[in-house]
Amino acid sequence: MVDEQVRIWRWSRRTLAVVDEWVEDHRWSMNMWKSDSDQEELRPWSMARELPKFSHSFLSLYCEEWGPISSFLRVACPVIIEKIKGMLGVFQWTAHIDPLNYGVFIKHLSAQMIHSVSTSHQINWRPRLRGRVICCSMELSFYFGSHSSYSFMGIFFCLLLFTFFRNSRVVLADSEYLIGLGSYDITGPAADVNMMGYANTDQIASGVHFRLKARSFIVAEPVGNRVAFVNLDACMASQLVTIKVLERLRARYGDLYSEQNVAISGIHTHAGPGGYLQYVVYIVTSLGFVRQSFDVIVDGIEKSIIQAHQNLRPGSLYVNTGEVDAGINRSPSAYLNNPASERSQYQYNVDKQMTLLKFTDNEWGPIGSFNWFATHGTSMSRTNSLISGDNKGAAARFMEDWAKQKSFGTQSHSSHVAASGTHNNQQGFPRRVSSIIPPVHENSNKLKELVSSFKASGGMQLSGPQSIVQRVRNTFSQGSQQNFVSAFCQTNCGDVSPNVLGTFCIDTGLPCDFNHSTCNGKNELCYGRGPGYPDEIESTRIIGDRQFTKAVDLFNTASEQIKGKVEFHHAYIDFSQLEVTVSSSEGKQVVKTCPAAMGFAFAAGTTDGPGAFDFKQGDNQGNPFWKVVGSLVKAPSKEQVDCQKPKPILLDTGEMKLPYDWAPSILPIQILRVGQVVILCVPGEFTTMAGRRLRDAVKEVLTGDGNGEFDNNVHIVIAGLTNTYSQYVTTFEEYQIQRYEGASTLYGPHTLNAYIQEFRKLASALLTDQNLHDQGPQPPDLLDKQISLLPPVIVDSTPSGLHFGDMSNDVPINSTFKRGDVVSATFWSACPRNDLLTNGTFALVEFLDSSQNWVPAYDDDDFCLLFKWSRPSKLSAQSHATLEWRIPQDSLPGVYRFRHFGASKSFLGSISYFTGSSTAFAVV
Ligand SMILES: [Zn+2]
Repeated sequence: MVDEQVRIWRWSRRTLAVVDEWVEDHRWSMNMWKSDSDQEELRPWSMARELPKFSHSFLSLYCEEWGPISSFLRVACPVIIEKIKGMLGVFQWTAHIDPLNYGVFIKHLSAQMIHSVSTSHQINWRPRLRGRVICCSMELSFYFGSHSSYSFMGIFFCLLLFTFFRNSRVVLADSEYLIGLGSYDITGPAADVNMMGYANTDQIASGVHFRLKARSFIVAEPVGNRVAFVNLDACMASQLVTIKVLERLRARYGDLYSEQNVAISGIHTHAGPGGYLQYVVYIVTSLGFVRQSFDVIVDGIEKSIIQAHQNLRPGSLYVNTGEVDAGINRSPSAYLNNPASERSQYQYNVDKQMTLLKFTDNEWGPIGSFNWFATHGTSMSRTNSLISGDNKGAAARFMEDWAKQKSFGTQSHSSHVAASGTHNNQQGFPRRVSSIIPPVHENSNKLKELVSSFKASGGMQLSGPQSIVQRVRNTFSQGSQQNFVSAFCQTNCGDVSPNVLGTFCIDTGLPCDFNHSTCNGKNELCYGRGPGYPDEIESTRIIGDRQFTKAVDLFNTASEQIKGKVEFHHAYIDFSQLEVTVSSSEGKQVVKTCPAAMGFAFAAGTTDGPGAFDFKQGDNQGNPFWKVVGSLVKAPSKEQVDCQKPKPILLDTGEMKLPYDWAPSILPIQILRVGQVVILCVPGEFTTMAGRRLRDAVKEVLTGDGNGEFDNNVHIVIAGLTNTYSQYVTTFEEYQIQRYEGASTLYGPHTLNAYIQEFRKLASALLTDQNLHDQGPQPPDLLDKQISLLPPVIVDSTPSGLHFGDMSNDVPINSTFKRGDVVSATFWSACPRNDLLTNGTFALVEFLDSSQNWVPAYDDDDFCLLFKWSRPSKLSAQSHATLEWRIPQDSLPGVYRFRHFGASKSFLGSISYFTGSSTAFAVV
């Protein structure tokens, strides 16, 4: 045994020496690639050409030490080669390599092989490289994608697979994962489109507070399973979006990503453009389907997953939990109907726990975090018209900026590509007050002189959308390191409001009626108040800040490492007619769920948005989509009325199929597992108690049978509003009260029990490694049936003599502002639907640096800068863009100006791009 250890030690050292030499030899060529790495597409081909030489060295060292290749390998080779060729077909065109990672990759690869060989020789010995020893055979196939010399590759690959097969148990028991994060802009149309969430016909987007993102993580076993989780700054996931994203992933990666292991979850902001869902009832107020909303979300999710995939590197995960005070129960009377014995187990009537995952790259340190915490995305009210990620989007923005200041992730501050007509500073600009960098322009006379020398530029044409890449934050990672990604995900927020001051009548200022949330019998007067009341942006900031602050705390103190398998299970369930076994005082009983239906209390809305969805007769005059579908409303059958009791049915959506399905009946449920963290993906909004019951049921299954795989320390989180949307889920007892959440629990009183029954099955499958590939019925793809009634942009114009980008209301000449002041300027503009400026910006605050260059300081992704768009009248072709900046306390004193970007449409339909800047002003 000792001999064997010495042998492996000797062999691994020699192999490592070869690897080091190889990497050293190729450093020059890697640097060459670095210099032109602004081209996104790199050239893996020449790298692949080098690989056989390396594998040859490796192979000969192996044979020298252990003799000729075993007979097993000779038999297995042809089979394995066939398998590899199959994989290559899929991977061929996805070859995308960061050359800077290549040396690292080769090192990891060889270290993994040494590890594999040593363990396959059944030696109780840990190679000294434990800790960085990891690689993924899937990734390896990239390198073969375009190479023709299969024979060498085959042998090399066989050796790799052979050793993996022989010790896969050992590899899997290792605590390490490959981790990749990604983020991409999904900001939809900032004009004319109804906002998703409040279903308020009058809430039409007209500007941007800050941008929306799709943020993804992928965790993969070195060889084996992987899961991808996407957090979407949107009201909820959409079945159609999920279907189309999965189609694209399949085309790109084959079976690597599917509905089984990809989850797409919405944060529940009520301030994002709607029209991207497929079922009729969710697109009434958006005048049907809105292609532009839909496309930008599908594109952004796909790109964020691609980024995460390309960023996969060896890393570690940590989990931490703590309490946040950022929500109150908005239906306490329903909560109180839950059994007293159950309620007494909990201190609060909402879940205050935040569960945070911290992602750490083995080489670079912290690269991001995802957390789950329950509170509605309704800090911004039902009359807000600015696109916003609400409190969770704000928290994510704060934390990513915090990480940048801490220099996690990308080291460089920012990179600015010059827009035509502007000067720029490639060095980047520190946006916040720093003790290292002294304030520029200290002399106030000098400041005044500078301010007076910069007048508004007047509107200028730009050559194309590529000219509008000027922004403060990078989309793509610079150099070798990825950007820090921080996501604030939604969980069982069904009855949780961020309007924590309570509910008050807007006429009297007195608290609303406790049971009905009414004022003198009227629900439309009762509103919840956020902590910044009456300023909803301030409320959003405060609730966002509370989540951000706790997340940073949990991030900094996370010490519990995540260890164990990566697994997943998924099933499609027909919730319209599911038999559910429930226990009652009379013993076990089989009950059924019902086709979807919405109760009367649904129309009353909630205290976050009263009177949310008015379907009453006579009120449908203004909505053309409602005119199309309203006549198709159908009376519920007797069976349905009985099934849904005590819910009085307002809309029998589950039985309404014209012009196409009004509500979903087939829902996806899914469990993702990474070590001791288990994520339950549900397609709806569970109330506090409903969520607790589901988590407890799953925990009971996982920790019950004494199989030892999970102990009491398993972390179970619910990912709400995931993969599709089917409104609310209350407990049976809360359902009896029929508040908004009960009225919106679609499948009848036993909806929650149906979820619990089906999730128990998924949880047992985790324990038994059972394959649940019987997927049941598939949800429909209704893309071709969608009706869109939102009129297109016809044309944009300016008054004669004026240009797009000219000032309509400039900053006063020679003006000076203090931090905390609000300064604004208005430009002649065009409809933002002409181009979403994805990864660009409509608004900039520029700063005059010490060498008299204008550099971007704040853009439309900043919390302090608002882009407000408006038309003088509904049918006018003219429009205004107002940029409003609340000067932050940490901004640098100096000279600033506004810059606006936009895109206009001509009569013939062509799109032109423009910009313009305001008169300069001073901040002291
Ligand atoms: Zn909700």
